[in-house]
Amino acid sequence: MASYDFTSIRLFVEGPLAAGGEIETGRDQANYLLNVMRLADGDAVLLFDGASGEWRARVRKDGKKAVRLALEAQVRPQPPAGDLWLLFAPLKHARFDYLVQKAVEMGASRLQPVITQHTQIARVNTERMRANAIEAAEQCGVLAVAECHDPQPLAKALDGWPPGRLLVFCDEGAASANPVEVLAPFRGRTGGFAVLVGPEGGFSQDERAMLHKRADTVAISLGPRILRADTAAVAALAVVQATLGDWR
Ligand code: SAH
Repeated sequence: MASYDFTSIRLFVEGPLAAGGEIETGRDQANYLLNVMRLADGDAVLLFDGASGEWRARVRKDGKKAVRLALEAQVRPQPPAGDLWLLFAPLKHARFDYLVQKAVEMGASRLQPVITQHTQIARVNTERMRANAIEAAEQCGVLAVAECHDPQPLAKALDGWPPGRLLVFCDEGAASANPVEVLAPFRGRTGGFAVLVGPEGGFSQDERAMLHKRADTVAISLGPRILRADTAAVAALAVVQATLGDWR
């Protein structure tokens, strides 16, 4: 991301986006543009739809409350889709919002809440998850919005696991070894990666035993301290992006 415009307002809109096209914003977006950001007729904004790259568009006021956005030109092409899944036990509100936002910033392409034996929270607001994912993408210049899935029991999420996708399991019980060294041998592998982080209560012994026996799975330590689950997710995604993913 060498020359990236961090000053313009960026909005996620329903595509497709093409030169000469016009997007009609919803009420919330119109309110945001006119009343919060105080944009005027003719001001420029950036738009993305998750598939068509990033576009410059001009504000066209339509009365006092409505806005149309006239598409001018593509300013960044859609990058190749990342392929990093995050499986995580759902957390309470603020931590959950944080985890979703940070995971998107870190380049997670799919967010899958999983219910484990010690997970306290069974219900997940998938709409809210998606709103957080979009907001993070808007703020950070991410052009592909992570897929947000409904929660599944861990066993179900692992059933029918795509062959070859490496599951990087954050194991708070693992002997503290350098995770970069543990992951390095998997560099250059195709098939994609996934990170699995447990709930605040940790994985049960049965779950740990089951995960250690699985094919295409590697356990990593995140150092000698026990991290909160939201911190662990960000730390693990950083380690994986740096050793196997798009930080290289
Ligand atoms: N209550 C548990 C900690 C759970 S922390 C205990 O005391 O053991 C929540 C999740 O974050 C864990 O299940 C694990 O996936 C991850 N995690 C936290 N600290 C970690 C560490 N040092 N190494 C690897 N994973 C860690």
